[in-house]
Amino acid sequence: MTEIRETQVLVIGGSLIGLTCSLLLSSLGIEHVLVDRRPHTSDHPRARLYDRRTMELLRRFGVQREVEVTGIGDLWTRQNRWIHSLTGPQIAEVPTESFQMAPVDYSPSMPVMGAQDLIEETLWKAAREQPAAEVRFYTNAEDLEQDADGCSANLRDRDTDQVEQVRARYVVAADGVNSATRELIGCPLGGQTFDVYMQDILFEADLSRWVGNRVGGLLFMLTRYGMGVYQPMDGALRWRVQLPNWDPERGDLPVETAREYIVEAVGVDASELDLEIQSIRPWRFIAGLSKHFSNGRIFLAGDAAHAFIPTGGMGSNAGFSGAHNLIWKLAYVLQGHAPDSLLDTYEEEHRPVAEHRVALSIENGQLAANIVRTYMSDGDMAEAERNCHQYGSYEGMIMAYEYRSALCQAETEPPPTVENEHRDFIPVVRGGRRAPHAWLDPQRALSTLDWFGTDYVVVICGADEAEGAAWRSSVDDYRARGFPIRIEQMLHATNTPYAESEAVIVRPDGVVAAHTVRGDSRSPSELLDRYLPLIRRGR
Ligand SMILES: Cc1cc2nc3c(=O)[nH]c(=O)nc-3n(C[C@H](O)[C@H](O)[C@H](O)COP(=O)(O)OP(=O)(O)OC[C@H]3O[C@@H](n4cnc5c(N)ncnc54)[C@H](O)[C@@H]3O)c2cc1C
Repeated sequence: MTEIRETQVLVIGGSLIGLTCSLLLSSLGIEHVLVDRRPHTSDHPRARLYDRRTMELLRRFGVQREVEVTGIGDLWTRQNRWIHSLTGPQIAEVPTESFQMAPVDYSPSMPVMGAQDLIEETLWKAAREQPAAEVRFYTNAEDLEQDADGCSANLRDRDTDQVEQVRARYVVAADGVNSATRELIGCPLGGQTFDVYMQDILFEADLSRWVGNRVGGLLFMLTRYGMGVYQPMDGALRWRVQLPNWDPERGDLPVETAREYIVEAVGVDASELDLEIQSIRPWRFIAGLSKHFSNGRIFLAGDAAHAFIPTGGMGSNAGFSGAHNLIWKLAYVLQGHAPDSLLDTYEEEHRPVAEHRVALSIENGQLAANIVRTYMSDGDMAEAERNCHQYGSYEGMIMAYEYRSALCQAETEPPPTVENEHRDFIPVVRGGRRAPHAWLDPQRALSTLDWFGTDYVVVICGADEAEGAAWRSSVDDYRARGFPIRIEQMLHATNTPYAESEAVIVRPDGVVAAHTVRGDSRSPSELLDRYLPLIRRGR
């Protein structure tokens, strides 16, 4: 009889989101198998923007610095530009504060505009070093089935064609936008399939003397061939251009045509440009959400759950935040700390976030196109630029969204007023929101965010030992019963977003479950009983 490989979780897909799920599972001590059918991680840059919230997550895996050095840096990421050609006139310029690789006081991390191939490789190296993970590439997951107790699949080694049966308690399918798992569990992708086929061309050339100081994260170039979006990949020789104007009916984009387009966009004679085209990948724009994010024991993550068009760089970042939301819940259920129903809150909490961003990415596409339309019709360019500001300035959207579920205290007061909710962010302690960052040492090495990851944490705000006594005693009770919860004391809460708080209960994904101010009539045990996902409550 064939031996069956038993595991806690099978992760299908070893790209950005599958590898992130693997790292999260490992950090929570969950033994798992990850498979990807590719021989190795991506050799094409694909997604470029890793937003501040994603970088806070990657900080947890100890790869923040390694990822940061792959980015193009502060100067390149301050704005997007619309220009005729590198040697021609500029049409528009729009600031992109959320792309800017620069530190801010409300986070220990900065966004990185880099390249997916480099980041995937970093994640892959980190994932396969973890003892809880078995990471297998060039392996296809096939014949997935589930029953009341678990899931079964065949893992086909594409090198030897040997098949191994695997039995897992749960499956996380991060198998991409064309997810076969999504179809298998009867959850079609609802939404829009745009009739835009992108030709994604990676090339090497020294464009520095023509770029000059007109640097930008995205350079929308309007030539006689139409619009092409030029993107510096390393701030030096490596470039990528996305061309939306090639009809796939005409077959593959020939290398010579790609070369012609690029020469035209630079605006010089072909003989002046030393250019090497490295790869051309077609990409069809799809935006939408899977009907559901799970079915029974199978969960969808990343592009399998929600597909984005690239405008605004939100696709993979939504995948990272979904994985962050899901994996601790799987771990808590598997470890017997929480009831199965905890898993329902993945879709309940993450779907509204993804839905909002999918709509925004579509709107961003329209706003970017509107700049060109306004220019062509001699319209109000200042207004078109202002409207397009949301494309790369969305700190409010990524830092201040609030999950709504029984796991988080519902706020009765509105959040602090900002001029623009999408763009602006004021860090505060609120139920369902990311717990704020504050540095814990003068060297600025340790952040409050570094406390979160595996346990529930009760942050006692202030140095008064007596004030925390009731919390300590309650937390000890839950801990004694086996629930993973601990206290962290914030000695210097003044001048931080925690100043008004007495205690803040934070989930393993760094989200505030509940919080109290001094003089709050609710007791620690009352709050813990209500907001911890305890089995005896049957939530
Ligand atoms: C050419 C191109 C350019 C892009 N450019 C951008 C961009 O500019 N900006 C942006 O935001 N996004 C861009 N994207 C999209 C971005 O790459 C995705 O959003 C991101 O990769 C999503 O990650 P994921 O892990 O969810 O899925 P994917 O990266 O799609 O990974 C899914 C993985 O699952 C594996 N898999 C599938 N089925 C099986 C199976 N049965 N067994 C084993 N393995 C399986 C696949 O091999 C694949 O590695 C681009 C995509 C492409 C193709």
